[in-house]
Amino acid sequence: MRLIFLGAPGAGKGTQAEKISEYLNIPTISTGNIIREALKSGTEMGLKAKSYMDAGNLVPDEIVIGIIQERLAKPDCQEGFILDGFPRTIPQAEALDRMGIIIDRVIDLDVADEVITQRVSGRRVCEACGNSYHIAYKKPNVDGVCDACGGTLVQRKDDQPDTVLERLRVYHEQTEPLKGYYEKQGKLISVKGQNEVAETTALVKAAIEA
Ligand code: AMP
Repeated sequence: MRLIFLGAPGAGKGTQAEKISEYLNIPTISTGNIIREALKSGTEMGLKAKSYMDAGNLVPDEIVIGIIQERLAKPDCQEGFILDGFPRTIPQAEALDRMGIIIDRVIDLDVADEVITQRVSGRRVCEACGNSYHIAYKKPNVDGVCDACGGTLVQRKDDQPDTVLERLRVYHEQTEPLKGYYEKQGKLISVKGQNEVAETTALVKAAIEA
């Protein structure tokens, strides 16, 4: 199954993608994670993306389209995948269509802006492996330490309050129109995402099985 998870930054796309990846045994492709990895390894693409990302803006379409094209060609995507954080603009969605990739469903995680700002401010990520936690909703076993690899948990630079507001503004302006794009294709299913993680996962499972 080929799925797209849409939603504002902090709507829970990554957390839900992780659950559904395991459930369907397909990989999650997160452009944000790929860019953060590139940044850590100091590649040219990572350096190009850094200033956009730090300011809460979108990385130019041609860069992320290139990333996705390369990643989806890998053998583990043959049986399906979940796209987390791509597409984020209409030109990105059009590029995906032009690649001949048929998406089965687009799950929109619907969460109010006030809930988003509260959630994102408590988010912490492992600087070694990228696993995501929350100081109230998804605590690690030991404060500040990643359960999976023992790495240090830090706040993403772009999760700081001013940047979050800018990311939300960019989301409403450039990403939200994708709902209409996929609604027209008959693929959009909206899921309420403001409750407990497990409740949302149950709704997402029902949506992909409908
Ligand atoms: P995320 O981890 O999905 O919240 O992405 C973090 C940041 O990476 C975003 O705020 C953008 O700067 C950049 N990014 C990730 N995916 C995309 C995309 N599809 N288009 C443009 N920029 C992206």
